[in-house]
Amino acid sequence: MGNYSIAVLAGDGIGPEVIEQAVRVLQNIGKRYGHTFNLQHAMVGIAAIEAEGDAISDATMQLCQQSDAILFGAVGGIPRFEGPNSKIQPERALFRLRKELSLYANLRPVRPLKALLNASTIKPEVLQGTDLLVVRELTGGLYFGKPSEIRETPEGLVAVDTLLYSEAEIERIVRTAFELARGRRKKVTSVDKANVLSTSRLWRRTADRIAPDYPDVSLEHLLVDTCAMQFIRQPSSFDVIVTENTFGDILTDEASMLAGSMGMLPSASLGTRETAHGLFGLYEPIHGSAPDITGQNKANPIAAILSTAMMLRHSFNLQQEAQAIETAVERVINAGYRTADLHEPGKITVGTKEMGGLIAETISD
Ligand code: NAD
Repeated sequence: MGNYSIAVLAGDGIGPEVIEQAVRVLQNIGKRYGHTFNLQHAMVGIAAIEAEGDAISDATMQLCQQSDAILFGAVGGIPRFEGPNSKIQPERALFRLRKELSLYANLRPVRPLKALLNASTIKPEVLQGTDLLVVRELTGGLYFGKPSEIRETPEGLVAVDTLLYSEAEIERIVRTAFELARGRRKKVTSVDKANVLSTSRLWRRTADRIAPDYPDVSLEHLLVDTCAMQFIRQPSSFDVIVTENTFGDILTDEASMLAGSMGMLPSASLGTRETAHGLFGLYEPIHGSAPDITGQNKANPIAAILSTAMMLRHSFNLQQEAQAIETAVERVINAGYRTADLHEPGKITVGTKEMGGLIAETISD
């Protein structure tokens, strides 16, 4: 029986809707297994910009630092806060959390449920057997490189972004991928654009240098364009994929369609800080704030719910409890319940709250 402190940052749009359901599930896990989850709620994103003047306040950063883990919803979604001229971008909350808490390894597992193979736009026979894990570098590359600005020049406006990786940054994320592959099918695919980019050539050299330290794991290299194609041609050929920030961002949205919907994919962002219970981490669904369906009880809460399962597994070492959540999700899907994004003829369409309630009840069964 443990006592765990969690900073809950629900954010904007559907963030609060899906996090409410994730918290319901977590509370039922607490009741069933006798754990106490101390939840401290704070604002991020547009809500925080309006109330506190920044996408994440120093006080919220401190709360996160003192917690054992962070449960995050989504930020953004109102155009006036996101235009090219807006002063504070809601995404700053995430970038600050990732950078200041050194959460450099983003884990995004994709394992389409059998009962959902028909919900994907990809043929079931292609999806069959898919069970992959994308390990995305999260604190380097284009999203953090400086300079990054629009400049006025005599020839007109020009813009620059900077893609920079140190060997040390590459090494730690590639090692994470090898370590994770050891607990799976022992294959790492390193994805880059080594035929064009210098950062990719350093990435590939570093992966090759490290590979002999893991003789039980095989390493293959794939160009990112080929990987994008291979994802929908033969997704079951992958085990662990490791790649840099921007490529990982794009490839995981593509991979989400293998699982039927963005609303199905959880993620974990990990660093090296240990708490009394395990590795400190931030857990969030991979989707955004979905302004097109906000406030309509239509959002699929499963990605957020599965993110709490990842939290139990990676940050609290509660394997059985994590499995209980994953099994509950599968049982509810197998029973024929679907949110609108997974709509299939003959199945029962339910809203966000109902889906959360069904999964939470299954935990208590
Ligand atoms: P999005 O992920 O919010 O939505 C893309 C599409 O998927 C939409 O049609 C949406 O309705 C659907 N969708 C997403 N999550 C769903 C769910 N749980 N259930 C059912 N359908 C779901 O991406 P977007 O529309 O490109 O971005 C909207 C806003 O979210 C933008 O402001 C963007 O910057 C922000 N964003 C935030 C994060 C984050 O907080 N981590 C991530 C991505 C985008």
